[in-house]
Amino acid sequence: MEILKPRLEELVGASHVAIGAAAKEIAQSAWTRLGEPAAVVRPASTEEVAALMRLAHAEDLSMTPWGGRTGLVDGAKADGGIALSLERMRDIESIDKVASTMTVQAGCTVQAACEAAEEAGLFLPLDLGSRGSATIGGVISTNAGGNRVLRYGMVRDMVLGLEAVLADGTVVNALNHLIKNNTGYDIKQLFIGSEGTLGVVTRAVLRLRPKPASQNAAFLGVDRFEALAPLLRILEADLGGELSAFEVMWPQFYELVTTEPARGRPVLPPGQAFYVLVEALGADPAGDGERFEAALMRTIEAGLVADAAVAKTGAERARMWALRDDVGQTARNGPTVVFDISLPISEMEAYLAEVRAALAARWPAAELVVFGHLGDGNLHLIAGVGDRGARHAVEEIVYGLLRRRGGSVSAEHGIGLSKRAYLAYSRSPAEIALMRRLKTALDPRNVLNPGKVLA
Ligand code: ZN
Repeated sequence: MEILKPRLEELVGASHVAIGAAAKEIAQSAWTRLGEPAAVVRPASTEEVAALMRLAHAEDLSMTPWGGRTGLVDGAKADGGIALSLERMRDIESIDKVASTMTVQAGCTVQAACEAAEEAGLFLPLDLGSRGSATIGGVISTNAGGNRVLRYGMVRDMVLGLEAVLADGTVVNALNHLIKNNTGYDIKQLFIGSEGTLGVVTRAVLRLRPKPASQNAAFLGVDRFEALAPLLRILEADLGGELSAFEVMWPQFYELVTTEPARGRPVLPPGQAFYVLVEALGADPAGDGERFEAALMRTIEAGLVADAAVAKTGAERARMWALRDDVGQTARNGPTVVFDISLPISEMEAYLAEVRAALAARWPAAELVVFGHLGDGNLHLIAGVGDRGARHAVEEIVYGLLRRRGGSVSAEHGIGLSKRAYLAYSRSPAEIALMRRLKTALDPRNVLNPGKVLA
């Protein structure tokens, strides 16, 4: 790598190349596992990314794109290769208020993009815990989800077009601005959710929405699992598509986020079987609050909700969301294994009972904390069995039981390195073979984020 240092410096400038110990230090400063990259480079433009890719392609150097480095599946691990950080490419290039679109560089954080949209009187509906550090390029390459998927879809639904640099340095301009465009293959989809294995996303055109004029939230106590699905359906129907979140917390999660050392305190008294945070984003500040409370009243009258607290102020709403977002508390009692699975709501209760039984049979003190975006069929399972070395055995149980029910081993975080062995649990051999053909066609020398998603 020392030999290539002058060439890398020539391409991006000496102050934007770190080699050897300096590169390792940058990797170690992150809280996620980034491995030991031989170099970290920070290009400032698409042209510089393309030049770096041409060099990597000619010299057979592996190149791993870095966004906000908050991923959870080792997708940015860059052992022995070059880490391609897009942090200098953070401009919001333009906002088109008439068309409701935003053109933004890949290194821009989600939060900065959301704030810019809001300043323009518009709304980028992406909301996730890592909003301050996650980047647009990162959330596109992982097809991130978050807290409002129920209403606005995943990142895939917010991207109209993008620009990507291929493994050989070819720049693909697919910066489509149109909502409807059926002219041949939808090229952008190759790069959304493919975790930087098929190209480096450098710019994107995002679809913006009208800024909601009202925001209503409530915390509900529910005494049985069977009530959750009808509760969701009533709220969806009664709120006419304005329901934006249906977040369910199992009691173990609720206890962790409402007791010391957590800063949150109970919104509803403990003792419920489930706690649900519901939110609606509407357009009529005068009438939405009443409609929201009327919908809740109907769920109470239907016997689906045992207890309810409606947020009366923005501060109360923030307090409810703070409980849901305080996911870090789930790691306070020792090592855990984190899951982001999805499966049909109708299968969830039986599935979780099987997982609990299987974990308890092997580790009698096992703890399973569950919460998630139930409206999307997406659960987060946090398993603690008191043994850091048990990770693989825990995964075998959780994914093995999921496979039998046709669930997905990743609803949000992606495959990266850490779930590669389980890809076949959720995708057919023909699908995986097609993924390999795409990878080989676009990156024949395997220089782009090698080893991620596909072994
Ligand atoms: Zn999530």
